[in-house]
Amino acid sequence: MGRNEPKAIAAAKLAALRVDGDRLWRALMDLARIGATEKGGVRRLALTDLDGAGRDLVVGWCRDAGLAVRVDRVGNIFARRAGRDPARRAVAAGSHVDTQPSGGKFDGNFGVLAALEVMRTLNDHGIETAAPLEVAIWTNEEGTRFTPVMMGSGAWAGLYGVDYIHAQCDSEGKSVGAELARIGYAGDAPMGGTAAGPGFDAYFEAHIEQGPVLEDKGLPIGVVVGALGQNWYDVLVEGMDAHAGPTPMPLRRDAALGAARLVEAVNRIALAEAPDGRGTVGMLAVKPNSRNVIPGFAQLSVDFRHPSAEGLARMDAALRAAAADIGERGGLSITVRPLVDFAPCAFDRDCVGIVRDAARNLGLPHMDIVSGAGHDAVHVAAVAPAAMIFVPCKDGISHNEIEDALPEHVTAGANVLLHALLARAL
Ligand SMILES: [Zn+2]
Repeated sequence: MGRNEPKAIAAAKLAALRVDGDRLWRALMDLARIGATEKGGVRRLALTDLDGAGRDLVVGWCRDAGLAVRVDRVGNIFARRAGRDPARRAVAAGSHVDTQPSGGKFDGNFGVLAALEVMRTLNDHGIETAAPLEVAIWTNEEGTRFTPVMMGSGAWAGLYGVDYIHAQCDSEGKSVGAELARIGYAGDAPMGGTAAGPGFDAYFEAHIEQGPVLEDKGLPIGVVVGALGQNWYDVLVEGMDAHAGPTPMPLRRDAALGAARLVEAVNRIALAEAPDGRGTVGMLAVKPNSRNVIPGFAQLSVDFRHPSAEGLARMDAALRAAAADIGERGGLSITVRPLVDFAPCAFDRDCVGIVRDAARNLGLPHMDIVSGAGHDAVHVAAVAPAAMIFVPCKDGISHNEIEDALPEHVTAGANVLLHALLARAL
């Protein structure tokens, strides 16, 4: 955009600006070749050789686009496009390039490559922003090989110390610190979101929805207003082992029956918090696990999710009441043991508004949506204004090799990202 153009012409040109959807799609497919699986998915676990190769490819593209790349102490990568005012904080966009063991081409990779495509588009059109722009690539979002999940963004936000992160080991005893050094991503840039770091003016993350809502409603864009809070529990059910034959039904203390009633209760509790409450029992074990023995012990996991802290508190109280009732009815001793909790996240009102305006100005049908999954943006949101853009994925499936998305939706999401970044950075 020429410096001397009348403002109205410049504004009209900016409004008409679009990313190159074909180039973005090619980048997604090229990156997906690294760690490609037979069924069309991707396996690129954090800090493996393949993750290193994926990072190298994207970092090379960033350098080719004229971006200045730095790596922080936990391996987060930031690729900066200078702004007119170097004193301003960066307006950032990104996600992650590590995947699940049988992951797909889009989870995380879409957010990173959409951000890169925005930079390439701005380069093509010679557009300068006032604030610097940054592509962010967060370390170990998936949490498969190393815990905690969303490791890099959590450390960036100051939730975890660098030494703690470096000491985390995989199942073979290899540490994050050693693996970062081995693949060449043990950086020395300060942890950006902490008091010592440069922070972000704002952060936008484009991502596939990983759920069925947008596809079901036929909408290309979800304006993500927040993420569900999570409470995880272990529930222990103690009864008494006894012979399946001689023990009359009324005299049993059947831990499996108590567990079954708890599974039912978890479902009922979540349904009472429709539409955004979630309740899942994903693990269930009985002892002694013998065909002709009434089980004297059962253990189950409970995963509750809700957009509000009050909702999570209601679900917690309902679970405890159900446990007490089921215990009394069945002669069982039931212990509800809280394991971890993540507070609900409400994204920044201004950033959410920018995403919604961008979708509207682009003529893209959209709806407000709450993320059921955790994302790097949730950690970033604790210390910087943040928001997310969702696009549909086929049948709502992710963390699976068949994960898929349509080129037009990927392009639409990147265009919303482009205009959100411009709205904040010009
Ligand atoms: Zn992801």
